[in-house]
Order: sequence, then C-alpha cells, then structure tokens
Amino acid sequence: MKPIVAIVGRPNVGKSTLFNNLVGDKIAIVDDAPGVTRDRLYRETEWNGTEFVVVDTGGLEPRNNEFMMTKIKEQAEVAMNEADVILFVVDGKCGVNPLDEEIAYILRKKNKPVILCVNKIDNYIEQQNEIYEFWALGFEHLIGISGEHKVNLGDMLDMVTDIV
Ligand code: GDP
Ligand code: MG
Repeated sequence: MKPIVAIVGRPNVGKSTLFNNLVGDKIAIVDDAPGVTRDRLYRETEWNGTEFVVVDTGGLEPRNNEFMMTKIKEQAEVAMNEADVILFVVDGKCGVNPLDEEIAYILRKKNKPVILCVNKIDNYIEQQNEIYEFWALGFEHLIGISGEHKVNLGDMLDMVTDIV
C-alpha cells in the first residue's frame, strides 16, 4: 500500500490548485464559485522516488455555512482515518480564520502527522511575516507555500517524504 497524503482545509484556500500541481495534470476542478459538493479525488504521484497517493478533499464546497462546516469536519475525520500524512492548507493572505481553528481542533485530536501549509505565499521574501501567526494553530510542521506559483513545494514534499 502506498502512503496516503490528504489535503484538507476550508474552501478557497487553494487545495485543488495544490493537488493539480502535485499530480501534474488538471483533474481536480478549481472553482471560484462554490455551490455543489463532490467526491474526493485520489491520484498517484512520487517525489524523489517515494510513491504516494494524494487526496483532494472538498470538491466543490456547499454554499450553506452550517452544511459546509459539517462537510469539512467529515472530510477532516475521513482524512485523519485514512491518511498517513495530512496537508492542512490555510490561506496566508487571509490570516487565521475561525474555520481553520475548528479544523485544527479536529486534526489535533489524533496523532497523525500534519504539515500546516500556509498557502498563497506567492512572494516568499515579501510575505514571510504572514506565516508566523499560523504557529498559533499548534502544529509542529509548518511551511509557507504557493500551490499556484509552485513556491516551496519541493521543501513541502521533502517534509512529506521524511514522514512517510
Ligand atoms: P479550494 O477550494 O481549497 O480547492 O481552492 P482552489 O484551489 O479552488 O482555489 C481557490 C482560489 O484561490 C482560486 O481562485 C485560485 O486561483 C486561488 N489560489 C490557489 N492557490 C493560490 C496561490 O498559491 N496563490 C494565490 N495568490 N492564489 C491561489
Ligand atoms: Mg477544491
């Protein structure tokens, strides 16, 4: 069995964009206007000879807030049960969001390794300071990345393959 790496996080933080860039094609749908819920996507990939399966959770997320929270919690629980490593994605441009805190609470309940990926750090030099506040979410592994502009994805994958 190849290790499973699940991407979790609230809507619009850039999970599908990151997934697409990790698996090297455009299978996951990236959407600015969430409305529908879809299933999780699984794709195989490798980094420096280590093969693993990446999971994009969330799909197109529901608009209704309460339902959305239920779905996110469900996804976080499933990810925690099946994944060997969790990539917890947050939006570095927005700062810590209450939904991030709720997801963090769920993810901290078990001892699965979590890498907190502070995304949308498109310019690492200028935006370095934006990642610090996310240490408050309480995870040992934290990295500033840009899924869209492929910033620090190699270092992030090194963290993944060090763990699996
Ligand atoms: P998801 O809902 O978490 O799957 O997020 P998506 O991947 O669908 O992305 C949501 C929005 O964030 C889209 O408009 C993306 O273009 C944008 N986005 C994703 N990654 C980045 C990034 O690294 N930098 C910036 N600036 N925008 C991003
Ligand atoms: Mg998505």
